[in-house]
Amino acid sequence: MYTVVSFLQRFIPSRYRSRRFLLDRYHFDLTSFDGDVSTWLDRFPVTTDNVEMYFGLAELFRRRGEFDKAVSVHEAILNARLDGYSVSEISLEIAQDYYAAGVLSHAEEVLLQALDHADDEISNRAFRLWLSILESEQEWARAVELVEDYGIPGSGGLRLANLYCEMIEEQRRQTPLSRLLKTLKKPQRLGVSARAEIIAAELYTELNRVGDAIQSYREILIREPRRVDLVLSPLKHLSLMNQSVPQLLTFLQQLYQRHPSARILEVYLELSSVQATALADDINAALLEEVQQGDSYSVQLYWLNQQSSDVQQAVAPLLRGWEKRSLEHSDDYLCIECGFYSDKLVWQCPQCESWETLFSRYELKIEQKIKKAS
Ligand SMILES: [Zn+2]
Repeated sequence: MYTVVSFLQRFIPSRYRSRRFLLDRYHFDLTSFDGDVSTWLDRFPVTTDNVEMYFGLAELFRRRGEFDKAVSVHEAILNARLDGYSVSEISLEIAQDYYAAGVLSHAEEVLLQALDHADDEISNRAFRLWLSILESEQEWARAVELVEDYGIPGSGGLRLANLYCEMIEEQRRQTPLSRLLKTLKKPQRLGVSARAEIIAAELYTELNRVGDAIQSYREILIREPRRVDLVLSPLKHLSLMNQSVPQLLTFLQQLYQRHPSARILEVYLELSSVQATALADDINAALLEEVQQGDSYSVQLYWLNQQSSDVQQAVAPLLRGWEKRSLEHSDDYLCIECGFYSDKLVWQCPQCESWETLFSRYELKIEQKIKKAS
């Protein structure tokens, strides 16, 4: 489980991680230190000789959840004004104490100060920490503002796009759709986020702009065919609605050549039955192979319905097994950055915190297959 403590660990430089210290004549094992901190600070003021011990002690307090003590120690270090220890760097530690303690306003004050006044390295650390905090607090509008103001241009476009998406999702109920579409233009212009296009298509659908919605869904599939699991179903319904099924069939036939996913075949077969059109030759050729792969129950049923009644009867006992193995019951989502997997799609990986890196495991497998073949 993701915890505040493990989240903060990443920001603690390794030199503060040692465990045993000698202070004056006393040996400390920090893992069991239990003394009164203000007494120790009075008796042994922070000096160059013992400052590392105090950093370690503050870290220990933070881990134990004794944030007030962590702040006391860090402030004592700060007030000692030692050479080689920058005020901004120690302030960053204090900001982390405040955040861990849930006092967000104090953390913000310190971090914004560091963003504006510290050198590049500290300022970048303050930026990353503050952005992570805003993300974990789901303060999307402020996160967007932060990245717009301080983000490094060209980096993290996907993250910025998703901060916009989160903000728009949050505002979706109480904001006019046309205004949301206008805000959405910014992440769309970044040109990296399938999610931004999916939201655009959904908003077009709500506004009854069916043609625009279809266009958006198609563009997602052209750019990112691994998202067929999300896009095909609404695209199918919209095409049925505005009677553009023949065009969709042609589109799917071409898409299947690039990305032979059983999901595409499923929709193709269903729509060609609705239209009562014959299957294209290459689809016909792919059908038997897909049946043998056994990934899609509906593809197998389609094939079975074309067989003689003898074959249908002979195969009937196998149907339940087919159904259980089919995509809708067996597929899950995998993070391509860190390998985290989840039953359902999440846009931000809970393990590595990357955005839009979870994909259908099956669609990733199809992608691998194409890469190997070429
Ligand atoms: Zn991940």
